[in-house]
Amino acid sequence: SLPTIFFITPTYPRREQFAELTRLGQTLMHVPSLHWIVADDNPECNPFLTEIFQKFGLPFTHISSPMPSNYRKRYFVPRGVSNRRAALKWIKANAASGVFYFGDDDNTFDLTLFSEIRDTKIVSMFPVGLIGEFGVSAPIIEGGKVVGFFDSWPADRKFPVDMAGFAVSVEYLLQHPNATMPYKAGHEEDQFLKSLDLKMSDIEPKANNCTKVLVWHTQTVKKPKHNLKVPESIFSNLRT
Ligand code: UDP
Ligand code: MN
Repeated sequence: SLPTIFFITPTYPRREQFAELTRLGQTLMHVPSLHWIVADDNPECNPFLTEIFQKFGLPFTHISSPMPSNYRKRYFVPRGVSNRRAALKWIKANAASGVFYFGDDDNTFDLTLFSEIRDTKIVSMFPVGLIGEFGVSAPIIEGGKVVGFFDSWPADRKFPVDMAGFAVSVEYLLQHPNATMPYKAGHEEDQFLKSLDLKMSDIEPKANNCTKVLVWHTQTVKKPKHNLKVPESIFSNLRT
């Protein structure tokens, strides 16, 4: 049987949220053996969101994981960290095998990505499109192995990769119970992978030796706040 993919999505309330999660959910509907973990940066799980997740008919877990308020005040806010930490905790308590992947609510996923990452043994990596000044962030491959990284913001990182550029085996996570993601904007990926004690030689290149872009770091333009002229109770999926 197919290994389960645990697809971890941090999400937070804003006008675009229902549109983003509808598009993402309808992508995930095409993927077999997938469990969607939606980690809600909200004091409680938004029941209107739970309702749309049920509609997709996917196995899902909706977790409330609000960002502690002290981090919200920082100049560089560590977005999605409390959410991903909560999802990792859930996986440790509820999963024994499979693969997990951090899929933000606004990114774009080629369905091929899922069959590529499903057999990840330790940590797999692959290019991410629309990242930074270079327009792509990707591992550099020589002789079928990762030897370095092409990324426009190296920043003294051992693993200068985007959150969407790697997948991890659940068994490997369970073997490294102290692995954690820091509340440090820009360094979440690098420090998380270091905390997994990852060796360069263990990285499994995917997407045709990292020559194909199967995920894009798309971002939705934020429109100025509108004045909703009707009660939210009528249009519950259109929030202000
Ligand atoms: N996010 C969150 N809380 C926040 C801001 C963002 O949970 O206060 C989530 C967001 O929904 C997304 C991820 O964290 O899944 C990364 O955030 P964003 O897309 O804003 O970051 P960017 O793509 O601009 O780096
Ligand atoms: Mn984003």
